[in-house]
Parts: sequence; structure tokens; C-alpha cells
Amino acid sequence: MNRILIASAFLLVSISAAFADEIPSAPPATAVVSPAPKAPAPKLVEPHLHIPRSNVVGHARVALTFDACMGQADERILSTLVRERIPATIFVTARWLKRNPAAVAVFLQNPDLFELENHGQNHIPAVDTPTLIYGIASAGSPQAVRQEVEGGAAAMVAAGIPAPHWFRGSTAKYDLSAIGEIRAMGYRIAGYSVNGDGGSLLGAVITEKRIASAKDGDVVISHVNQPTHAAGEGVAKALVDLKAKGTQFVRLEDVEDTGDDKTTE
Ligand SMILES: [Zn+2]
Repeated sequence: MNRILIASAFLLVSISAAFADEIPSAPPATAVVSPAPKAPAPKLVEPHLHIPRSNVVGHARVALTFDACMGQADERILSTLVRERIPATIFVTARWLKRNPAAVAVFLQNPDLFELENHGQNHIPAVDTPTLIYGIASAGSPQAVRQEVEGGAAAMVAAGIPAPHWFRGSTAKYDLSAIGEIRAMGYRIAGYSVNGDGGSLLGAVITEKRIASAKDGDVVISHVNQPTHAAGEGVAKALVDLKAKGTQFVRLEDVEDTGDDKTTE
């Protein structure tokens, strides 16, 4: 009896830990504890972004956005985008650019497909007070937010990429003052409306289902930097699914995007 109880308890703990890992919007409690009792955690927002609907039955308009945070390029996704001629907006960090010159060359060879935008210098959340987000330390000051944004843009220009007009910070979370600072630097801030791959931690089947069910006017976020994760397989399949459904793919620069939390107006 005892052994059964212990085994059940262990199973429960395993399941909840795995679930917490896979769903970034429900981080473990330890990740949101403020670093010092005197400094309350800042109010963070995770802005939404939408594009104008096509309102044409059978031709939903969808903007695919991909984050290239750190690590390698996911060839399963990249090769599908190129082969199927599917346009997309890719958010790159300076760190990722440095490690993936071959993928950067593919982007630059296909300017009709790829809009490249700024995901920051070191993949540090653009929050101007000290806190932890999913265990990642925030920039922590307005100066550090500015450095993250400017450092990302400088690396892009140095790699031969046109100067970016959009910024998306690591974790896609911000405090409102950081949003104001980044807007004052001339950027729009890219939220999203469909979380396609749960931070690249979801399985292939659920990822494919989430992305393939994008509706008219949606902006999908997923990742192009985790070639060993199952999610990327689902992303690649969903691209083909969406194309087969007659989806009209646009990039953020192609349409009048509308974000909340003062991210675009
Ligand atoms: Zn990222």
C-alpha cells in the first residue's frame, strides 16, 4: 500500500514538473520570487499583436514570426520556408547571428521571404528593474535595456542586414516603462496572438495543431533555434498545412499591425 502511495506521489510530481517546463506562461513559483523582499516584482505585460484580416474565406492572413534566441538554426523550419516560398519575420539576437552565418546568408539571399528584426544583443529580458523571468535575470535598468536593443541592432547592421524597425525582447515580457523607452528609440514592439511552440518545449503534434489552427489576423510566435527539439518538426509540418489551406502569409512590415500595451501606436 505504502509503495503504491509513494509511487503515485512520485508520478504526480513528475507530471507537474514536466507540465511546468512545457508551459512557459505558468513558470515554477521560484522563477517569480523577487530578488529582494524590499523590491516588489515589477508589473510585467506580454503584449498581443494582430494584423488586419483578409476577410477572404479560405485565405486567412497570418504573420509567422520566429525567434532566433541562441544556439543553432533549425534547418527543418528554414528549409521548409525556403522550399515552400513562405514569407516570415525572424527576430535575431547578436549571439545567434555570430553562430549561424550560413543561415544568415540564406536570409539575405531571400529578401522577398525574410524580414529580419531585433531580438536583442544577449537575450536579456527588456525589463528595466531587476527581476527574474523564467529564471532569466532582466536587464535591470533603463541603460541596460537600451544596450540590449542597440547592441542587437548594431550586430544586425554589421552582418549586412537592414536596420531593424521592430524589437521583441527575450521572454516577450516587458514592464511598461521599458516599452516606453524602446518606443522612444523608434521601435515597434512585437507581441503575438498565437503561442505556436510554447517556447520550443511542446511536442511536435501539439505544436503543429496550434500553428495550423491560426486564424485570419493572427501573429504566430515560435522558435527557429532549437534543431534538437520535437517542436520544430511540428512547426515545419504546420507551415505546409497552412499553405495547403490557402493561407495568405505576410511579414510584419507588409501590413498595419496593431498591438496592445502601447507597443505599436
Ligand atoms: Zn528568444
